[in-house]
Amino acid sequence: RKRCIRISTGSKQLDACLNGGFQTMSISEVYGEFRCGKTQLAHTMSVIAQLPIEMGGAEGKVAYIDTEGTFRPERIMEIAERFGGEVPRFPFPFPGANATVVDPDQACENIAYARAQNSEMQTELLEGLASNFTTNEFRLLVIDSVMSLYRTDYSGRGELSERQQALGAFLRRATQMAEEFNLVVLMTNQVQSDPGASALFAGADGRKPVGGHVLAHASTTRLLLRKGRGEERVAKIVDSPDCPEREATYIITTGGIND
Ligand code: ADP
Ligand code: MG
Repeated sequence: RKRCIRISTGSKQLDACLNGGFQTMSISEVYGEFRCGKTQLAHTMSVIAQLPIEMGGAEGKVAYIDTEGTFRPERIMEIAERFGGEVPRFPFPFPGANATVVDPDQACENIAYARAQNSEMQTELLEGLASNFTTNEFRLLVIDSVMSLYRTDYSGRGELSERQQALGAFLRRATQMAEEFNLVVLMTNQVQSDPGASALFAGADGRKPVGGHVLAHASTTRLLLRKGRGEERVAKIVDSPDCPEREATYIITTGGIND
């Protein structure tokens, strides 16, 4: 039967904190302020997911729902170069252990990309992927970011419960797909910018993800990203079914997330 797999983040330190990486069959959420590396992590994992299991990959294709227009194929190609020679050519299963090619273009082709313009489209795109997923070639689904369109579409004072209802439906479907198709579902998320709200609800870091209880309950693994000293970034595991609360540092390089 289906076995849970883990996909590496690109950082050994962070992987160690996560017992090897983000796991399939549930939702993982990374949240944090602007420029802390959420999108870079999504790009890095989109390449690593394609790699052989021994390299921290899942030998799978990737589906990428972009809500902020920040996906860059050039970055995928740069990150693929880091793992040169190891990106398998699909159709999957790729024929034989050494049938790998140095092909950054192939790394891009293995990613089914879609740009969502509003929250309704975000849900439609998710639903549309179900037929792709039945081929059992996909191991990673990225939503970058999960809340941005809900926040713009339901910005009125009285619209919060309606927003949370729509969000709940989206997340239930994403959870279902994670389980049914053995996917890592990686969602990025923003933090509340209202300093009053942060001070009121905050954990030790004064940063709280948006999406409320609905998202908090849907996310099995939650990671807070923040800027550290100099180029350093810090990831803190705030919720996990099998890892204690702990921190790891990582950097963002041309080759993606690294130590
Ligand atoms: P977020 O999605 O959390 O807002 P990003 O994932 O977009 O943040 O990360 C932005 C950061 O990544 C910036 O600090 C930028 O300098 C860094 N970055 C982007 N591309 C590269 C690269 N090719 N090499 C090194 N750092 C990069
Ligand atoms: Mg981003």
